[in-house]
Amino acid sequence: MCAIMDYKLSAIIIYIQKGDNMELQVIKTQNPKQIPDYNNLGFGKYFTDHMFMMTYTEGIGWHDAKICEYGPIPMQPGAQVFHYGQATFEGMKAYRDQNDKITLFRPLDNFNRMNRSNDRLCMPHIDPEWVLGVLEQLLLIEKEWIPNLPGTSLYIRPFMIASESSLGVKVASEYIFMIILSPVGSYYAEGLQPTSIYVEDSYVRAMDGGTGEAKCAGNYATSLLPYKKAKEMGYSQVLFLDGKEKKYVEEVGTSNAFFVIDGKLYTSPLKGTILPGITRDSIIKVARMKGYEVVEEALAIDYIFDIAKQGKLDESFASGTAAVISPIGKLSYKDDVIVINNNEIGAIAQELYDTLTGIQTGKLDDPFNWVHHVN
Ligand SMILES: *Cc1c(COP(=O)(O)O)cnc(C)c1O
Repeated sequence: MCAIMDYKLSAIIIYIQKGDNMELQVIKTQNPKQIPDYNNLGFGKYFTDHMFMMTYTEGIGWHDAKICEYGPIPMQPGAQVFHYGQATFEGMKAYRDQNDKITLFRPLDNFNRMNRSNDRLCMPHIDPEWVLGVLEQLLLIEKEWIPNLPGTSLYIRPFMIASESSLGVKVASEYIFMIILSPVGSYYAEGLQPTSIYVEDSYVRAMDGGTGEAKCAGNYATSLLPYKKAKEMGYSQVLFLDGKEKKYVEEVGTSNAFFVIDGKLYTSPLKGTILPGITRDSIIKVARMKGYEVVEEALAIDYIFDIAKQGKLDESFASGTAAVISPIGKLSYKDDVIVINNNEIGAIAQELYDTLTGIQTGKLDDPFNWVHHVN
């Protein structure tokens, strides 16, 4: 009896904020966790004390928005997400800048991209500005969880799932949108290490007309088998080719791919099968600002191998929020292997990495107005 009372009392509503369209309830935990050692964070192992959650009901819209203790959520086994996979997500980071202030990088681009992913999966839109406001409040509550060691950050995972309990294959009428936070370590403990990549010539990740450009859960489920196969052969990631001819390079795991030939950068165009990476877009803009030519053109894998054998493939790298830039040191395709730039990080990759992370942490000017200050 007493214990139940205590439990109920421990959920103290700190405030309710009336927004233009919705109120936000903030219920602070009375049981904060121990903050992990920033030197040993890894990726996605720890979660902060609080999370954000709201529910969508057809005919009503979004409701019951709350920041509450991080923990299990009640779901019906019949919830449609478990059966038919209506699930989308985003990945972004909060940083500590030079002055220990909290910053985000192009956050509205992430929420707008989620809306585009949701269109493909018949899921409802979120209001990007409103959700950004909520994220800012969540970050201020969790500010002790934002690590400040070089390369560390607080990874932000917004996601949406169909929660309606029904086994009919149809567009769900109820959804949950959540934001959870995980402090993550430096991707590069010993500087930017080139990776060995396996070029997958049988499995594909995306097809014309498919879901390749949506950040939806199903795309990652289908990538696990090729990833496992590459791992077993000693490679750290998979380079996927186009789904039709298995000829043109598309993406590296959960990153976009760049190739530098004769000082020019090449990356696949956004034609439906490529995830429109925010890092990809930032690299294109920063590279052009620095005077590099960037060509959005799909290169054939045979061409890349030919060029490499002629000594004209200067560099290759992958781009994404998690690692920003990840140099590719080795590519294996069928029976052939090429080593790129002596398996060392290239000068252009290093320059772009330094520039982009410099902008993100406030060490460098922000000519594109990408940095969003939270406090
Ligand atoms: C998330 C993701 C990327 C990178 O996008 P960023 O916005 O740069 O983090 C690239 N490819 C795939 C398949 C992805 O899921």
